[in-house]
Amino acid sequence: MKILITGGAGFIGSHLAERLLKRGDEVLVLDDLSTGDLDNVRPLESNPKFQMKVGTVLDPDTLKPLVEWSDMIYHLAAAVGVSYVIEHPLHSLTTNIRGTEIVLELANKNKKRVLLASSSEVAGKKNGKAMFNENDDRVLGPTTVTRWIYSTSKAVDEMLGLAYWREKRLPVITVRFFNVIGPRQSADYGMSVPRFVKQALLGHPITVYGDGAQRRCFTDIEDALDGLIALGDHPHTPGEIYNLGANPDTNEICIKDLAHKIKDLTESDSPVELVPYEKAFAKGSYEDLNYRVPDLTKIRKTVGYEPKISLDMTLRRIIEYYES
Ligand code: UDP
Repeated sequence: MKILITGGAGFIGSHLAERLLKRGDEVLVLDDLSTGDLDNVRPLESNPKFQMKVGTVLDPDTLKPLVEWSDMIYHLAAAVGVSYVIEHPLHSLTTNIRGTEIVLELANKNKKRVLLASSSEVAGKKNGKAMFNENDDRVLGPTTVTRWIYSTSKAVDEMLGLAYWREKRLPVITVRFFNVIGPRQSADYGMSVPRFVKQALLGHPITVYGDGAQRRCFTDIEDALDGLIALGDHPHTPGEIYNLGANPDTNEICIKDLAHKIKDLTESDSPVELVPYEKAFAKGSYEDLNYRVPDLTKIRKTVGYEPKISLDMTLRRIIEYYES
């Protein structure tokens, strides 16, 4: 197939491009390089089935011929990372909402299949310790807390996708990523794992926010790609939303333990430091979630998805990448 990946020079997009090329697809990447990096796709440049265009999804004139060329679009271009969103709230809202609107409008004109990248952020901060199901109520803090911009913008994206499916029969598949990690993920946008690995390797303090009791379930990029591509290919996934994450038995951890694990694996002398939220973020901009683990029942049932890579394995791979 001819596949357009918006945001294809980013962490997930560049890995996706590599996988799709490996199975013989033609891949065209559009990326504005705001958080993406040409270095991520450099090794793909020699492949005659790969093309890279620097530009933004906010410009319909740039996007139109690329959509027309494609058989399918993986729409990954978005503002990502809690720190990035807190620092660029307006740009994040615009890119995530207007960008998706433009992609879907052009895809609809040509009736091209779209896979829309969404996030577990959409579910918000559920209380208690239940796994996150796609149909759970969303629980968000007030609009004054900048963090919720990401959740809100991605929720609008999901609703746009569903509306295009219901009203126009545009095949849109929505995937909610749960803390995907791996080589090439930048430490610059706030994500815990690349930050901790970089801090540990440089001998800097490993900065755990709050008391570090908050829990996450981290997903290796290779598992995420298995699920993503299976959902993208499947005939019955349009009009549906899918969680995509890891198995809590092997990949759930509290952030303080994560910091210590990374310290041990890197044999670092870095101290693990508890940083109060007020010190890490501007007042009123951030609110944490104490627990986030995916319910994978739906994706398992639909495409037989089974994540295979344990947290220890994925951390070792990431450390190796950063060391090199
Ligand atoms: N976190 C942290 N120190 C950091 C970066 C993040 O303690 O330097 C915490 C963050 O507050 C959250 C967890 O690690 O509780 C996971 O953060 P991440 O940004 O990786 O993903 P999120 O689940 O917040 O989207």
